[in-house]
Amino acid sequence: MEGMQCFHCGREVFTTIHKPRGYQVDYYRLHTGHTEVDYLVNPKPDAPPLRYLRLTQPIDVLTCVDCYVRPEIRQRLEDDISGRRAILEAAARGNPSLAARGESRAGGAFLVVNDRHEG
Ligand SMILES: [Zn+2]
Repeated sequence: MEGMQCFHCGREVFTTIHKPRGYQVDYYRLHTGHTEVDYLVNPKPDAPPLRYLRLTQPIDVLTCVDCYVRPEIRQRLEDDISGRRAILEAAARGNPSLAARGESRAGGAFLVVNDRHEG
């Protein structure tokens, strides 16, 4: 069976252990991925297309319970969820081949942005 690793520290993580009284969680899963800008036809007549971020490559980021208690890691996870900064983009900085492909953008997938102002 293939082992799962913490995205941050690399340690092996284990599935949730169920006990007679409750359970023990070993990791948290963040469903994220690479996104790219795409366009939707605007339903309003004569309006510009709607720009949005499409999730092109879903990736699960695993965070072990040890890393989850660290404030800087919680901040990175929250930045990804809120779309401020993609967690994969932060990781790509130490990985030139990933960074050069330029696939990582803001993590807020499915955010609809109308980038032109009318009037
Ligand atoms: Zn960890």
